[in-house]
Amino acid sequence: MNEKEYSLIEEMLPLLVSGGTGDFTDAEIESANKFKKFIDHLPGGFLIYRSDDREEIIYANKAIISMFACDTLEEFKSFTGNSFKGIVYYEDLECVENSIKQQISTSNDNLDYVEYRIIDKKGTIRFVEDYGHFIRTKVGDIFYVFITDATEKINKKNNERALILQEKDEKEQKLKNLIEEYDKERILIRQEHLQRLEVIEGLSVNYDSILYVDLDADMVLPYRLSERLTKQFDRKLQVRHYGWFVKDFVKCWVHPEDKQRINAILSPEYIRKTLAGNRTYYANFKCVQNSETKYLQLRIVHVKNSRHISQIVIGSRNIEEEIVQEMKNKALLETALKDSKLAYIAKNTFLSNMSHDMRTPLNALFGYLELAKKNADDKQTLERYLDKINAAGKQLLDLVDKVLQISYLESKDFQLDEKLYSIKTLTQEVYKEILPSANEKNIDVLFEFKNILHDEIYTDRDKLQQILLNIAGNAVKYTKNGGKINLTVEEKLSSSSEFATFRFIMNDTGVGIAKESLKSIFEPFEREYNSTHSGVFGSGLGLTIAKHIIDFMGGTITAESEVGVGSTFTIMLSFRLGEKPEETQSGDDVTDFLKNKKILLVEDNEINLEIETEILQDLGLIIESAENGKIAVEKVKNSSPGEYLFVLMDIQMPVMDGRQATEEIRKLEDPALAEIPIIALSANAFESDKRMSVKNGMNAHLTKPIDIPALLDAVKKVIMNK
Ligand code: ADP
Repeated sequence: MNEKEYSLIEEMLPLLVSGGTGDFTDAEIESANKFKKFIDHLPGGFLIYRSDDREEIIYANKAIISMFACDTLEEFKSFTGNSFKGIVYYEDLECVENSIKQQISTSNDNLDYVEYRIIDKKGTIRFVEDYGHFIRTKVGDIFYVFITDATEKINKKNNERALILQEKDEKEQKLKNLIEEYDKERILIRQEHLQRLEVIEGLSVNYDSILYVDLDADMVLPYRLSERLTKQFDRKLQVRHYGWFVKDFVKCWVHPEDKQRINAILSPEYIRKTLAGNRTYYANFKCVQNSETKYLQLRIVHVKNSRHISQIVIGSRNIEEEIVQEMKNKALLETALKDSKLAYIAKNTFLSNMSHDMRTPLNALFGYLELAKKNADDKQTLERYLDKINAAGKQLLDLVDKVLQISYLESKDFQLDEKLYSIKTLTQEVYKEILPSANEKNIDVLFEFKNILHDEIYTDRDKLQQILLNIAGNAVKYTKNGGKINLTVEEKLSSSSEFATFRFIMNDTGVGIAKESLKSIFEPFEREYNSTHSGVFGSGLGLTIAKHIIDFMGGTITAESEVGVGSTFTIMLSFRLGEKPEETQSGDDVTDFLKNKKILLVEDNEINLEIETEILQDLGLIIESAENGKIAVEKVKNSSPGEYLFVLMDIQMPVMDGRQATEEIRKLEDPALAEIPIIALSANAFESDKRMSVKNGMNAHLTKPIDIPALLDAVKKVIMNK
């Protein structure tokens, strides 16, 4: 619609508003009717309404009426309440009215444009465009409006807008996702960073160089550099290629022996493979610095807990001290293992030897026993067999004694019982003891003293004699018939007035000992020639016992030997000096003294009782027996003082044992009876058993089987007070 048409409409309006009534000319009315006809049939909607509160509709053309699905103007007026308010969809009304007001108040030519929804009679909602124009006329203020159906256009527009919104939403969502991802990544990076710092902090306590490595990026960044590693980084904490770093590091620092291994251990493939199973691993290697070899350790730690292995931290430190300590421990362990293996082998050998050595005398014992039984009538043959049985029994006893003794020597109970003795007498006794067996083998024994200035010494006689007897006995044992043995006791010059040092040399022309065996000859269970090979009875304990006692006495023992030539054992011992001991009584005095004296023999074992009774009777003693401690106490109690010369008391017995019986006797009212000498006779052979007997109030302790010289000795000391 152009300017001209607008002004025409404005001209016609008062006529239209008044419905043709009023002060109009016929010509005006006619042109108004023509105009009305024209706008009635306009293709778009045309509407005139009052610009007051009621907004009454003055005119609506046909297009508007049909827009609301109405057939007549009346129908339309009644449907819309004949007001602009009824045209606009109620939800849009307020907004539309305000917009129009606002546009008219600011518009120079009183024009406005609004879009809104209308609802037709059938309930269909449509979008319309409203081009309005406000004018003041003679008949009041009015709006004339062109309304066009813009449903399609607006739907399209809305669709477009929705599309744009959707796109916008999508874009926003994408942005949001990106931000989220970025945040996640940032958190992850922060976590990694913290983890890395944690690892570095952990390593920093011990490691003097710490490097951060990203395998994927082939880069290494130092966090801390030791003097050694500064070379690879020009003293700066700067990034390098990891591959280059490994090559240069291995080339500069790793000892040629370890180069290949460390190269492999630091390769990304190896790192990835190893760290897939463990969070960390380490490698020790030798390093060359200033032509000195040092020990270093590399520790490789995976920073993340993820499966992908790229970020690692490598620490390096000096482990000189640890390696040295480790090597020492290893050496100690190896020695201990070797020793324990050797001990195990020695023990096994000992057991097999023992079983052989025990069986040999046992077989002899039973064999000769059978023979003796068969030849009971032939006195001469019988005696020969009994001698053999005796020898076999002694062998067995010797074996058992030695085994017991070795365990005693290794116990805490072992002690020396030192008294004053003549060294000459003491060694002569040993010489006398070996003489019969040496004579039997036709061995020439030369015994001599050299430079003996001090004869009286304090020593444990039994132990010293045992040492000498073991060595001298071996000399006889391992020397073939017709051989030679030299026994020398020599006093060494000493500046001390309190001590004298003696050298005991025992030299033989025996079978000798091989060099390898010589080294371990003093070890328990070691035997160069066991009975199986040499036919010589032995336990492999004699030298061990001797060495133990010598060590305890503060002395030394050495052995030299050559196979087939002979052996020399040398013992050095120092003794405290003392007064000359009184002359020892001969055994004959004691035997005389014992003739026809009565003793009480307390023994529960019938066989022992029989043997012991017979042996003691041979000494001229009269034997009264008691089968347990209780009976013994009764018998002593009921005896007259001096009736029994002494009591020979077994220890382990039923009803009342020997120790308790002794205590009971010592408590008897009559002091003459209470003080009766009591000598223990027991299978308990340990030193501690002997001490226990004395503690229990016994006067001496003898071990079974009964040994007559020992008994005579005890009688001499305890009863004869000599
Ligand atoms: P045993 O003689 O009871 O076997 P020892 O401990 O006394 O035990 O001796 C250990 C080993 O040392 C003997 O088995 C023997 O091989 C060797 N030996 C000891 N003394 C001599 C010696 N005088 N001559 C040759 N070998 C000896």
